[in-house]
Amino acid sequence: MAGGHLTIDLNAVRANWHALDAMSAASVPTAAVVKADGYGLSSARVASVLAEAGASWFFVAVAEEGPAVRSVVPKDAKVCIFGGHMAGDADLLRDHNLTPMLNSVEQIDRHLAELPGHAFGIQLDTGMNRLGLEPADWDAVRARVLDLDPVLVMSHLACADEPDHPMNQMQLANFHAMTDGMSVPRSLAATGGTLMGPDFHFDLTRPGVGLYGGFPYENAEPVVRLDLPVIQTRTVDSGETVGYAAGWVAPGPSIIATVSSGYADGLIRAQSDKGMVFAGDVACPIVGRVSMDLIGVDVTHLETVPDALTILGPHQGVDGVADAAGTIGYEILTSLGQRYARTYIGG
Ligand SMILES: *Cc1c(COP(=O)(O)O)cnc(C)c1O
Repeated sequence: MAGGHLTIDLNAVRANWHALDAMSAASVPTAAVVKADGYGLSSARVASVLAEAGASWFFVAVAEEGPAVRSVVPKDAKVCIFGGHMAGDADLLRDHNLTPMLNSVEQIDRHLAELPGHAFGIQLDTGMNRLGLEPADWDAVRARVLDLDPVLVMSHLACADEPDHPMNQMQLANFHAMTDGMSVPRSLAATGGTLMGPDFHFDLTRPGVGLYGGFPYENAEPVVRLDLPVIQTRTVDSGETVGYAAGWVAPGPSIIATVSSGYADGLIRAQSDKGMVFAGDVACPIVGRVSMDLIGVDVTHLETVPDALTILGPHQGVDGVADAAGTIGYEILTSLGQRYARTYIGG
């Protein structure tokens, strides 16, 4: 088999969820954010493991992602939709018992008209300016909405991966101002907010990336390993070039491994000439352009070239690859290609 091999450790996902859960008080449940197909790792696999571990709140981005999660969690678990209730969602929300986090007065009106009595939550904007009701909208509808017992009132932090950023305290103050005195459960923290401590925990935490081993949860157990087969090896002379656009010029006689995986598999092209892969413990640089299906790797310094090189593993996680590619671990995870053979450990 010439394709890459992705190994996903569900035991590590479970351990990360338990560790994040332990950071908040026992009375504060910890949800699991499984949007984008569980950050690319399979929302159904992750949700089923975490439901067994005790999670009872799950979040996805859009209603279409809900049924895959609903089908693997207990009936009384909540499957919530960050994007709220969009036109055309009513059947999905009802048939699969999904809970929209309503983001605007328009969504509130739609929800109450189309699915009266169906559970919902409210998302407030405390400064990120992405999703949620602004303070003036909230003031206008708050009394009417609270009468209907929303399951949650939530907001999202823009800068929680930088604990000292002034936005965090500003959004915290705004959230208090918009929600203090209510009896509805409140939630503000994703992974970064969970790490920032109890002031940010309120009644529910909502980690995503930390479950999957990504920054800002630096003590996370690694979840993914990605091994890429070497298809062939060649020697090149000083001055010969490797790859498209003749992008890399051999500085001396070199041994180049051609490795299976490219930008079509989510190897971000910006890591051309920057990224690293590993032969066991030894780093080997990616040389030349990342192609659609292949990369070139300089293995001149290896005594023997292994059958496969490791791009995600003990020496380099999703954030290491992200640094080389000029992006974030989230994008590395959600880009992991459908062509890789996948093995799930544990669960
Ligand atoms: C994605 C997301 C989360 C999870 O964020 P992480 O940084 O991955 O922990 C939580 N809440 C909202 C609203 C989100 O969009």
